[in-house]
Amino acid sequence: MQLRKVTAVAATALVLSVTATACGGGGKDSSGSGSGGGKIKIGIKFDQPGLGLKQPNGTYAGFDVDVATYVAGKLGYKPGQIEWVETKSADRENALARGDVKFIAATYSITDERKQKVDFAGPYLLAHQDLLVKKDSTISKGTDLNGKKLCSVTGSTSAQNVQKTIAPKADLRKYSGYSECIAGLQSGAVDALTTDDSILAGFAAQDRYKGQFKLAGLKLSNENYGIGVKKGDSATVTKINSALTSMVSDGAWQKAVTKNFGPADYKNEPAPKIGVIVK
Ligand code: GLU
Repeated sequence: MQLRKVTAVAATALVLSVTATACGGGGKDSSGSGSGGGKIKIGIKFDQPGLGLKQPNGTYAGFDVDVATYVAGKLGYKPGQIEWVETKSADRENALARGDVKFIAATYSITDERKQKVDFAGPYLLAHQDLLVKKDSTISKGTDLNGKKLCSVTGSTSAQNVQKTIAPKADLRKYSGYSECIAGLQSGAVDALTTDDSILAGFAAQDRYKGQFKLAGLKLSNENYGIGVKKGDSATVTKINSALTSMVSDGAWQKAVTKNFGPADYKNEPAPKIGVIVK
């Protein structure tokens, strides 16, 4: 895997001049009907601490939640107008195609395959695939996984990368969410869990898991997080890119990083440039 090879895509996205208007969606789908009392439906994860988490008191927290809330604000929606919808890894493309949500901010990597079905704004974060293992595990590199029970999630790039390149002979168990994987790692049903380091760090820092697991620190891939929108909705992509640009320049992006990744001691990459994908 060649890291840090920067490819400029969607050069037009770099010369943004459009300002998000005060008017919201206005589309005919059910995902958002504009500002002035309307609601906007936004897809996030519900079970990923530090990124997208439904808390016991019914509120939502995490970096993706903060990014989505900021973006919705620029689209003309107040936090109280947001309806959060759970979009699991395997459901994301379909949720957008059906118009269930206006956009998705759910640790959603921009890939060529997904771009056939959805459009992306961003990227807004660069993460890397890594492994989470028990503290006393001897697994320390990708090839150590061959013959081992490994958990990842259906519809994720992490599961695909394992099968294609990292450890094709691993006994890969695909679950529907990472919270199921972490339970499997704790019980010993699996030997390792693989996905983005951002997600793994969030789990490892949870009180109930503290001291039990370690990250391998491998940077097995580049995961460029984008905001997914319905294929062809270029007006929303342009507005979201504009919102993400101002989120970085006005300091809100860094604030969200510190608030959400600080507790997990996750050392994130600097803010990506809009339209620039690290291959
Ligand atoms: N970022 C990767 C992906 O989009 C893994 C995390 C996830 O499943 O959401 O597939």
